[in-house]
Order: sequence, then C-alpha cells, then structure tokens
Amino acid sequence: MGAGPGDAELLTLKAYRLLQEADVVLFDWLVDESVLALIPRQVNKEFVGKRSGKHSMPQHEITQRMVYLAQQGKCVVRLKGGDPAVFARTVEETDALTAANIPFAIVPGITTASGASAYTGIPLTERECAQGVRLITAHQKNADAEPNWSLIAHSLQNETVVFYMGLKKLPMICNALQAHGVPLTLPCAVVDRACCPEQKLITGTVSSIPDQALHADLQGPALLIFGHGVWKKQ
Ligand code: SAH
Repeated sequence: MGAGPGDAELLTLKAYRLLQEADVVLFDWLVDESVLALIPRQVNKEFVGKRSGKHSMPQHEITQRMVYLAQQGKCVVRLKGGDPAVFARTVEETDALTAANIPFAIVPGITTASGASAYTGIPLTERECAQGVRLITAHQKNADAEPNWSLIAHSLQNETVVFYMGLKKLPMICNALQAHGVPLTLPCAVVDRACCPEQKLITGTVSSIPDQALHADLQGPALLIFGHGVWKKQ
C-alpha cells in the first residue's frame, strides 16, 4: 500500500479503509507520522524501517515477516512511502506472496514526484519545455553501476528528470550532467520533506545547487528535479 509522500490527506480512500480493517501494519521510515496516526489503536504497527546510511532490516527479513504473518491468518498491510510501484521493491514482496499462495492486492499512493510537484508548484510536464518526465534512482543495486549520463543529459533538453534517493549524490549528479553537456544554467530544484509541514524548496541551477543545498540544512528525504520546467513554478 502506498502512503503518499507526507500529508495524510494524500492517502486514497481505499488505503484509509484498509488501514482500519488490518490486523498488522508493517511500515517504513518514509511513512509520515500523520498517516500512522490514522491507524486504529488495536491494529499492530511494526516498524521495518530502511533508511539510507542507517541500520535497517534486510529486505528478505521484511518479506519473510510479511509472509509469516499472513500465514498466521492475519490481514497484513505493507505500508510504504509514496507509491508502491516506484522504487519500493514491491515485486520482491509480491513474488514471495505468490510463491506462498497468499492472495494480495496493490493499493496505489501518490508518488513523491507528484506530491512535490503539487506542493511546490513545479510542473513535471509543460507544453513549452517539458514533453516528458523521467523518474530515476540515484541509488543503483550495484554501487559501482552508473546511470546512462549521456542519455539523461540529452533528455534534459525537453524533459524533466526527477532523481529519487539523490540528496547525498547531488554534487556528483550535477558534475556528471555538466560533463555530459548540460548547460550550467539548467534549472533545478531540491524538495526536502515534500508535502510535510517542514517542506523546504531550493531552486537554482545545475552549477549553483550543490552549494545552496550544503548551506540549507536539509534533513531528507529529498527529491531532485532537473529541467526547464522548474522555472515555470506557479
Ligand atoms: N515509493 C516512494 C519512493 C521510495 S524511494 C515514492 O513513490 O515516492 C525513497 C526516496 O523517495 C527518498 O530517498 C526521496 O528521494 C524520495 N522521497 C520519499 N518521500 C519523500 C518526501 N516526503 N520528500 C522528498 N522526497 C521523498
């Protein structure tokens, strides 16, 4: 189930209803307090957090726990920040459920790119300058693997590129884009804790933003948005 990027009012009605009916909710660190507050007291809440750079429960243990609880006859909600189809390792979990013959449904959520766009006014597509949008992870399975920088740099001519899990890599990403021909003036934004009361927005260019971010005391999670659409902020 997707919990959306913050503000509990971004939950779907379906997610809300199922949270009231669950026996157990397994949730990540990205799920906002305001969402957890909507879970009834009698429902067990288990934190199975994963946070960049901090101790976390390995994915296979989370999956095992989910399967175990379901096999005990519990109605389990696996609650994730944003949308479960976007950088959320959902397939690993649904594969395990299928293998164990456990019926399940996927409940969508608002992905951070959509939430951040609405709560900052930065469009993701815009007729004049952004005919598409790419969602990219800055965190590859193999730590040495590199995104296809020349493809990304090229797409920035007329697309918006959104990086998830990119805050720590912001200087590296900006360098790589410039090295692959992106103009120094390309607009970009960092949205820290999007859709939360503490949301912070920094806008600048691909050459200025790493320094701006350094001085902005960002806590994360944060989203990076590159592209000409950033200047069309409403
Ligand atoms: N499934 C989630 C993404 C999980 S990957 C979704 O659809 O949004 C984790 C990354 O999502 C974080 O590193 C960060 O880049 C982004 N993220 C999640 N919640 C966020 C928030 N409230 N504000 C900014 N970025 C967020």
